Amino acid sequence: MCGIFGIYDHTEASNHAYLGLYALQHRGQESAGIVSSDGKQLHHYRQMGLVSEVFSRDILKKLPGRNAIGHVRYSTAGSSELKNAQPFMVDYANGMISIAHNGNLTNAFLIRSELESRGSIFQSNMDTEVIVHLIARSKEKTFLERTIHALRQVEGAYSLLFLTEKEMVAARDPLGFRPLVLGSLKDAPVVASETCAFDLIGAKFIREIEPGEILLINGKGIKSFKPFPRKQPHQCIFEFIYFARPDSFIFNHNVYEMRKSFGVQLSKESPAGADIAVPIPDSGFPATLGYAAQSDLPLELGMIRNHYVGRTFIEPEQRIRHFGVKIKLNPVRELLKGRKVVIVDDSIVRATTSRKIVKMLRNAGAREVHVRISSPPITGSCFFGIDTPKKSELIASSHQVSEIRKFIHATSLSYLSIEGLKKCVKGEEENFCYACFSGDYPYPFQMELE
Ligand code: AMP
Repeated sequence: MCGIFGIYDHTEASNHAYLGLYALQHRGQESAGIVSSDGKQLHHYRQMGLVSEVFSRDILKKLPGRNAIGHVRYSTAGSSELKNAQPFMVDYANGMISIAHNGNLTNAFLIRSELESRGSIFQSNMDTEVIVHLIARSKEKTFLERTIHALRQVEGAYSLLFLTEKEMVAARDPLGFRPLVLGSLKDAPVVASETCAFDLIGAKFIREIEPGEILLINGKGIKSFKPFPRKQPHQCIFEFIYFARPDSFIFNHNVYEMRKSFGVQLSKESPAGADIAVPIPDSGFPATLGYAAQSDLPLELGMIRNHYVGRTFIEPEQRIRHFGVKIKLNPVRELLKGRKVVIVDDSIVRATTSRKIVKMLRNAGAREVHVRISSPPITGSCFFGIDTPKKSELIASSHQVSEIRKFIHATSLSYLSIEGLKKCVKGEEENFCYACFSGDYPYPFQMELE
């Protein structure tokens, strides 16, 4: 769960990288960083915190040059600390390299222990660092060839941006788990995790970078390479369900429309005899619109979100602990009192959120609370970059829907079926990964979150 952004040959490269990261903030809130190149050397700044907290005008001035890449991080591999913030940068025999990675490598531990046994010293505990070591050790001549050589050895999910003194390279793994899009700002090529980053800077969307494609961007323009054997794509369906921004266009679709169609399908599968439909902000909104329209139910904003909640707040005393959801969401009593309510949310992970929401709605006077979830039950961890925790913490890995309903005190509970989800991406259903719902991982690997 990270966002990446890159821009090549623009007078205001680092300023645009800053804005691009700003638009991608939803993909990671732990740390942010930018590396720029002035053609001779790389300049680097990364810090824990939000993009707006990390960068100031003065800091951006210290990132000169016409090329830049940036990263916002939400850790899925490696702990949350500064040494694991990205872009990661090293100096090696052939110059400087920096790398920004979205995804998770499934064989990084194996490669790392092999490299360490041959004397490599690692600076971080991120999976991403193995790519840099493999590039540095490669006997190939050009940076692109070294990169391809390194990427042939890693397995898993990667949407990547590399910056050297003179070149930028963008790469998407052969299964295409994470999104990566190409655009242009006047004549300057831009690359980002999602198109919402282009909209903010006024860049034009050109196309998605294809699974298994590598782009070399330098003074001669953009060149595309497809060095890996072609594989069946496994784009992450959870990007549509929860992670990506609804205004983005990724995986050949607008995220908002896709989410809305999940709500329509959910209503066809599991109508609820309710008076009003209430979205759980913000991620449940588009699906609720679809659900309410299909069910012919009035949509009411019965839950209001406080948009100013920071990442941490001081929890006063034991008595009012477990504030988490309460500080973020508050019910509108006047709307809910005595009514049969159906709420639509995008997913249940541990079920602590839905349990608290149902309790709040009941306390606010709702007579019935029907819960509809616009994704199937999450029964398995993700090893490809979504932060779904270890299997034992996923409530649906060990409980039936009827047990989860009881646990969250809902009048009724239904999830979207896997078949229903596939219907929404009809014609392209083979191109997506559903492993967190089906347990059917795209390839065998040695990795266990437990
Ligand atoms: P939980 O209490 O663990 O069931 O949280 C479920 C809520 O977290 C849902 O409302 C989702 O919008 C949100 N959510 C789903 N997946 C994730 C994730 N990987 N990281 C953070 N939040 C998530």
